[in-house]
Amino acid sequence: MSTNGLPAKFSAWNLFRRGLTGESWPPVWRSHDLEGSYDVVVIGAGVHGLATAYYLAKNHGINRVAVLDKGYVGGGGSGRNTAIVRSNYLTAEGVQFYDRSVKLYQSLAVDLNFNVMFSRRGHLTLAHNDGSLRTMRWRAEVNKLQGIDSEVIGPDEIKALVPEMDTSTSARYPILGALYHPPGGIVRHDAVNWGYARAADARGVHIHQNTEVIDIETSGDRVTAVKTNRGSIATPVVVNCTAGWATTIADMVGVRLPIITHPLQAAVTEPVKFFLHAVVVSGSLHVYVSQTERGELVFGASVDPYASYSMRGSLEFTEELAGHVLELIPSISKMRLLRQWAGLCDMTPDYSPIMGFTAVGGFLVDVGWGTYGFKAGPVAGEAMAEAIATNKTPEIISSFGLDRFQSGQLVGEKGAASVGH
Ligand SMILES: Cc1cc2nc3c(=O)[nH]c(=O)nc-3n(C[C@H](O)[C@H](O)[C@H](O)COP(=O)(O)OP(=O)(O)OC[C@H]3O[C@@H](n4cnc5c(N)ncnc54)[C@H](O)[C@@H]3O)c2cc1C
Repeated sequence: MSTNGLPAKFSAWNLFRRGLTGESWPPVWRSHDLEGSYDVVVIGAGVHGLATAYYLAKNHGINRVAVLDKGYVGGGGSGRNTAIVRSNYLTAEGVQFYDRSVKLYQSLAVDLNFNVMFSRRGHLTLAHNDGSLRTMRWRAEVNKLQGIDSEVIGPDEIKALVPEMDTSTSARYPILGALYHPPGGIVRHDAVNWGYARAADARGVHIHQNTEVIDIETSGDRVTAVKTNRGSIATPVVVNCTAGWATTIADMVGVRLPIITHPLQAAVTEPVKFFLHAVVVSGSLHVYVSQTERGELVFGASVDPYASYSMRGSLEFTEELAGHVLELIPSISKMRLLRQWAGLCDMTPDYSPIMGFTAVGGFLVDVGWGTYGFKAGPVAGEAMAEAIATNKTPEIISSFGLDRFQSGQLVGEKGAASVGH
């Protein structure tokens, strides 16, 4: 800790000074005893829970906030994702929302004083048939109307961006074109989680790991307390940021969510010399790939086609992934996979999130993040914090309320999901 009890500032001067004096760096965030009451209890220490807590403290001065996690910071999807950031969605609501997040990501390292390694790469969504090409054109037009840099390009331009890609007409699934979105890129997911945790802690938020919520108490139609394996906490506001486990928490207060949890797998290769600048996605082949700054190729795919809370990898995934990736980039056939893993995805019927107030007073949700929620962490945290502080639904999330499933006003984003599901 620095002398005032806050985490040390990361700077060239501090690095230099500590290098000379040998003084060690303090922990990134602190541990605390569980207090008997907090103004806000956030369940889930992934990017959404941590960002909500951070913006509550930073933007609204509300810092008697506890973030509870049954495991560890980033142990859910936030530490298991492939970290793709983009805003080339299909609906105007979606595009505006994710664009705000891209903008927050661009300045997040400075805001959090933590290098989150945001890297603008350009994002290519390939079209292998006329139907996909039509959807790409549709997305490009919606994007342009919202001021987002997005356009449909042809095989020659794709080849210029990714020379290793097989754009020939003799490929098994020839590439007809792609939606090209230059602002898209990747970020370092652990750094984002740790950066938010550190910055929230510095502003007085308490992060409690290994603290499982086992029940939520209500009186009348309002939440009053959260029961955990470490004791009870009185609170007027509870925010459910538990993604794949979202329905288990909502069930505690009788709120039904139209969510089904599916596993999603990913894999990474050994590092090689940098050659793949763009992020490449193929919905038809159910695969996407990017290269990290360190040189590994990171692959993702569609969700496993069954509901489960299991986070185990499978051989079927690896086989299909390898086959499909090689159809796109045959020259990487000698690369070796280092590891594969899985996380949980809370899928909604319209592939959009569920955010804001519920019928139970003081119980808010920030869930339904499916396969696309990491990129939304900053904007979701900012908006949820505003909702709690003002007791009003911010305009930017007004389309994502739970009531849309009663009114039938769904926000159909399936056509903009990374890969077909
Ligand atoms: C393999 C994979 C690849 C992905 N790729 C991308 C991508 O490229 N881009 C993108 O935008 N998104 C991607 N996603 C989706 C993204 O990871 C998630 O949508 C996002 O991380 C959800 O964040 P969160 O903070 O809401 O939840 P999580 O990070 O899942 O955190 C939820 C937390 O709640 C905790 N919890 C659960 N129950 C309880 C309880 N009873 N008490 C206390 N704590 C509890 C869990 O321990 C967990 O830490 C991917 C997901 C996976 C699995």
